[in-house]
Amino acid sequence: IAAVAFGAALAAGTLTACGNEGGGGSGGEAVKIGLLLPETKTARYEAFDKPLFEEKLKSLGNYEVVYSNADQDAAKQQQQAESALAAGIKVLVLDPVDAASAGSIVNAAAAQDVPVVSYDRLIAGGGLDYYVSFDNEKVGMLQGTALVDELTSRGKADGGILMVNGSPTDSNAAQFKKGAHTAIDASNLKVLGEFDTPDWSPDKAQTWVEGQISQHGDAIDGVYAANDGTAGGAVAALKAANADPWPVITGQDAELAGIQRIVAGDQFMTVYKAIKPEAELAATVADQLARGETPEGKTTVEGTPSTLLEPVVVTKENVMDTVVADGFWTVDQICTAQ
Ligand code: BGC
Repeated sequence: IAAVAFGAALAAGTLTACGNEGGGGSGGEAVKIGLLLPETKTARYEAFDKPLFEEKLKSLGNYEVVYSNADQDAAKQQQQAESALAAGIKVLVLDPVDAASAGSIVNAAAAQDVPVVSYDRLIAGGGLDYYVSFDNEKVGMLQGTALVDELTSRGKADGGILMVNGSPTDSNAAQFKKGAHTAIDASNLKVLGEFDTPDWSPDKAQTWVEGQISQHGDAIDGVYAANDGTAGGAVAALKAANADPWPVITGQDAELAGIQRIVAGDQFMTVYKAIKPEAELAATVADQLARGETPEGKTTVEGTPSTLLEPVVVTKENVMDTVVADGFWTVDQICTAQ
């Protein structure tokens, strides 16, 4: 059904397009698509997800992106969703702050016949039209396995570790944690302490690690940090305590600061999740939904057609073959003095 495209062209008074150019058509008023992202402390959202989504969507038709970032505040995200719906969006692409409470956003969208794409984090409760993300349990497995293997190769197969997990309201964080535990629980490593970091806050991760250092001191051989933001918090705490020998630290997102820490030897690994295909797929799906089509998933997650992309481990050894080869960062960016 190309009703949306026809509607848009006719509303402007001139029929300049007949609907095959995409949900936004080529003439008339732009079709609005909502994009709601969860926070700004993690660099990816403003630097990659948002611009890559917008660019792709605009290449598909006459679209306008109604964008908001919730700064990790679920109530704020609820309001942002309400104003996007009031502004007349035709599709909502939502990366929820709180997987459970976002169900009410899905209901509000459904009441206006607005399809919802769950972006990167899975919204609980169903009613979704599409889910695009990575294999998040695998992300945790890759992190946990890298930590176990590296500590084993350093002769610390039965060493002590801290686990700095992600936000308790993020469904992905539970998946990362589950995958990491699968690897860690099967090893001889001892978990000295474990923390679910509220809001994924690097500061809160740092404060918690500081407390753990005063309790466990030298017994901390490794830190499972769920992403590069929390890894940065752990590194700051360990530096302030002059940790020696330096622990093995994990991360995720291949943030520039994370890659720089890997090159400097302060962080052992990160997980690269190529944001371009994720954001572009979300845009393609939004275009299909705006045109009344039903996008097909490569798989199904909790009844929703889904596509889960493949995460990749990055260590000092393969920075060039991964993030640099993929054009995510240049050598110049990585080697800029901090
Ligand atoms: C994302 C990660 C990100 C974290 C904090 C997760 O849902 O998958 O890439 O680091 O949220 O925003």
